[in-house]
Amino acid sequence: MIRKIDHIGIAVADAAAALKVFRDALGLELVGTEPVPSQKLVSYHLRVGESNLELLVPSDPESVIARFLEKRGPGIHHIALAVEDIAAEVERMKAAGLQPLAEKPSLGAGGKQVLFFHPQTTGGVLLELCQGSDGAEDGRSGPPA
Ligand code: ZN
Repeated sequence: MIRKIDHIGIAVADAAAALKVFRDALGLELVGTEPVPSQKLVSYHLRVGESNLELLVPSDPESVIARFLEKRGPGIHHIALAVEDIAAEVERMKAAGLQPLAEKPSLGAGGKQVLFFHPQTTGGVLLELCQGSDGAEDGRSGPPA
């Protein structure tokens, strides 16, 4: 079951400039900053109710986010949906013809299991499924303690 929008990932070239907009101008709370080595980026989590905006800043010019920024500039990169059972959801979505970008979920921000689906099979939206490491009922998706 898909529970909620966990976060919206926003590709950012200049973290300071983006924080000026999302933290300072919008007044959102910066609840955590976290390197995500598996994706060669640093993510900044800004809480919006029960979801987050995640600013994605590349830490390596060869990262997916760096290439996205080169091609398309800053902007929305993906939408992440929180699920209760990622293995079951992946099977369900594959059966419906959606194509995952990897064989298996990997470790993403916040210690969550994550798997992306190809935008060509999801109506042009890069979708991420994520399952919290703690299985917390409130779906809190902040950084690890
Ligand atoms: Zn994400």
